[in-house]
Amino acid sequence: MRPPGSRQLQDLLVSGGGVAAIRPAGQLSGAEAQESCDAEGRTVLPGLWDHHVHFTQWVIQQQRLDLSGADSADETLRLVASAAAQLSASQRLTGFGFRDGLWHQPPTLAALDAATGEVPTVLVSADLHCMWINSAAQRQFGAATDATGLLRETESFAVLQRLDAAAELTTADYRRAADVAAARGVVGVVDFENDDNTALWPQRVAAGVDALRVEVSTWPDTLERVIDRGLKTGDGLDSQGLITMGPLKVIVDGSLNTRTAWCWDPYPGLAADHPHRCGVEAVPIEELTRLLQRANGAGIGAAVHAIGDRANTEVIDTFAALGMTGRVEHAQLLRVEDVARFAPLGLEASVQPEHAMDDRDVADAYWPGRTDRAFALRSLHESGARLRLGSDAPVSALDPWAQIAAAVTRSRDGRAPWHPEQSIDVATALRASTRAGLDLREGGPADLILVDADPLTATGEQLRSMEVAATMLAGRFTHWKL
Ligand SMILES: [Zn+2]
Repeated sequence: MRPPGSRQLQDLLVSGGGVAAIRPAGQLSGAEAQESCDAEGRTVLPGLWDHHVHFTQWVIQQQRLDLSGADSADETLRLVASAAAQLSASQRLTGFGFRDGLWHQPPTLAALDAATGEVPTVLVSADLHCMWINSAAQRQFGAATDATGLLRETESFAVLQRLDAAAELTTADYRRAADVAAARGVVGVVDFENDDNTALWPQRVAAGVDALRVEVSTWPDTLERVIDRGLKTGDGLDSQGLITMGPLKVIVDGSLNTRTAWCWDPYPGLAADHPHRCGVEAVPIEELTRLLQRANGAGIGAAVHAIGDRANTEVIDTFAALGMTGRVEHAQLLRVEDVARFAPLGLEASVQPEHAMDDRDVADAYWPGRTDRAFALRSLHESGARLRLGSDAPVSALDPWAQIAAAVTRSRDGRAPWHPEQSIDVATALRASTRAGLDLREGGPADLILVDADPLTATGEQLRSMEVAATMLAGRFTHWKL
């Protein structure tokens, strides 16, 4: 094997879950290794992390109708109608991934009812902030929409939570999803599922879902329970050393697609008296301040969701006022002067480059004249801010190579790069997808992967479809196809 950017072949000795020795090829004596495998000159990298996932929702999504390829209401309805035709009224059709922001024909309840009849149908949007729900499902969930058939934000989340709770996932479903991630080179995820993560993940590991390290978040509604148990960020939660306590997650605004991301400027096309012309302040800043203070005092870090530039300003102000470091999740639209505030405050920007590819057209439409400071990865990096890449799975696929490719090329599907001046180099993108940089060190954990091509010299397409030959977690293979 060889390190990225090097032609020098190396041998690596793994022992007790850690990297025991790294030597030029041929200099480890055969006697030192009990078992050996030939990496055939592949590139070795530290295992990758996805710094923002909703793991259970991702597991659930594997079992739902994928609507992400449809770019109109008609096409979506065609897919939905043919799936509904296979089901009876006692079953339920659930789909995901639609993006109505740019449809020429807006969604209507009548059209969805016509396509689905009596089969209860719930379609969850790509950004999870709204759903298109038919009359039969509205009766089931006690929900009521207007003529669009859309539920948004809080009302949508409430139905989504009940829908997810009814999904009846098995350990095998979780294991499969973890294995799929490991096959893409993932050794760890930060899980922002809104659930009793500190209890559930150790149980999953004990049941054999052991292909990933998981840093688990807590939410405002579980914060007091976590504090009562004396848990602090960084604490280990299971006997295998895979699960650790992560940060408190707080959501301060909405999303771009639903025009609920909280911005300094109004969204185009919304009436002057629209109550949410500039988006939504989902948690009042006083409440955010109280929560962060409470968490900080108990040794728990914070990860705060902020998408619009106003939300980001307010969140950065709050961290600054409390003298607290933490992570800003998404940081999609930033005022130029706010970019420079991340590094001095020790704030990390937890970003999802593939969202820029998913949302570039919506961003052009909803943030016109402002997209030069949207998904501003290079500005953040050059300002000294630490970047962490993630997928926000299920919003995009739990595949770090898609994020790395999007960060480096700012393009997908053969389209011209979108704001290529905000691209970052491969080494930076890779580093932002690991825990401790690109170098493997003796004494460090044996979390590593072997890839077929050297990422530092790979093309954008090669990065996106990077073949991962092996993934090792704490010295054991979680993926192997050599
Ligand atoms: Zn998220």
